[in-house]
Amino acid sequence: MLVNAYGAHAGDQPLQPLQITRRAPGAHDVQIDIAFCGICHSDLHQVRAEWQGTQFPCVPGHEIVGRVAAVGAHVHGFRPGDLVGIGCIVDSCKHCADCEDGLENYCDGMIGTYNFPTPDAPGWTLGGYSQQIVVHERYVLRIRHPEEQLAAVAPLLCAGITTYSPLRHWNVGPGKKVGVVGIGGLGHMGIKLAHALGAHVVAFTTSDSKREAALQLGADEVVVSRNAEEMAAHAKSFDLILNTVAAPHDLDAFLVLLKRDGTMTLVGAPATAHDSPNVFNLIMKRRTLAGSMIGGIAQTQEMLDFCAEHGIVADIERVRADQINESYERMLKGDVKYRFVIDNATLAG
Ligand code: NAP
Ligand code: ZN
Repeated sequence: MLVNAYGAHAGDQPLQPLQITRRAPGAHDVQIDIAFCGICHSDLHQVRAEWQGTQFPCVPGHEIVGRVAAVGAHVHGFRPGDLVGIGCIVDSCKHCADCEDGLENYCDGMIGTYNFPTPDAPGWTLGGYSQQIVVHERYVLRIRHPEEQLAAVAPLLCAGITTYSPLRHWNVGPGKKVGVVGIGGLGHMGIKLAHALGAHVVAFTTSDSKREAALQLGADEVVVSRNAEEMAAHAKSFDLILNTVAAPHDLDAFLVLLKRDGTMTLVGAPATAHDSPNVFNLIMKRRTLAGSMIGGIAQTQEMLDFCAEHGIVADIERVRADQINESYERMLKGDVKYRFVIDNATLAG
């Protein structure tokens, strides 16, 4: 089946309209009419070949929401018309220890929603900047938010789970002091979720202009990280720092803010490496520098249900498909509050 999409033919070319094929749904497949797709900074890293191994044409997009159009004969959990989401994972080996633990995100055979090998044409997965997608039912999420919020639910499928998963893994809750570094797509969700989990939340930003907005998102305090005095006031005080920054920067400036046994987990994935941290900043207080990648399917459903229950969605700006290139430039300038979401109806005709 041919569907309209938006993608790039090379890393140095803008995204443009193109047509792609989707497989006919197999027995366990769910065919989805995509209503909205968020624009993640990872989409930009991949489609511009900042990360290695991009296959072209590349159709990004892994913050997908829409309605079920059709289901295969053996699908029992979903029916046509259901509101559903697809995040960053469309397949995995299904039998390794990671898959059995519901941590498909760490399966060596994980198939990402775009740029991963697949038997489907053209040989690698094509993402959500498209009218439809066909996915095995195991990787389809149920959306329980009201339909009016659907566009603002889309970013939960990556930005939401990528921040929720480490917050849960490091037991964030009442009595914990949590820092969120970078108030972009991921960071703004990190602030909302850490606040909803009951933690004391400190937002770190390079942008003085985001100070007020960060408080409205749920931060208890805001620190402009370029200001050494403001930084020093928080020395040795954090249980967890969630670092979402998409560029190499000084990790030591944040490590010294962790208390004994505190952890900084990196979720930002810049194309070039950070300078190594000063090991003394780790060993002196038994601190941990960690990383975390998205989250498993069960936890993604848990996060969506948590957000529906607490009325949490992303703060978004809706864009047409022909505004994707401009949206990338604005994202690089930090000129978005806080996630662009494509209205996939604008891919028609
Ligand atoms: P984003 O919307 O562009 O936000 C990144 C934020 O980082 C910016 O808003 C800015 O916040 C801060 N920042 C950017 N450049 C900076 C610099 N040079 N120095 C200091 N701060 C800077 O991006 P995103 O969609 O949230 O994604 C963030 C990163 O996470 C990307 O690298 C993405 O690929 C990665 N990611 C990882 C996972 C995972 O599973 N680990 C999942 C999704 C995305 P302020 O203006 O507040 O300083
Ligand atoms: Zn993403």
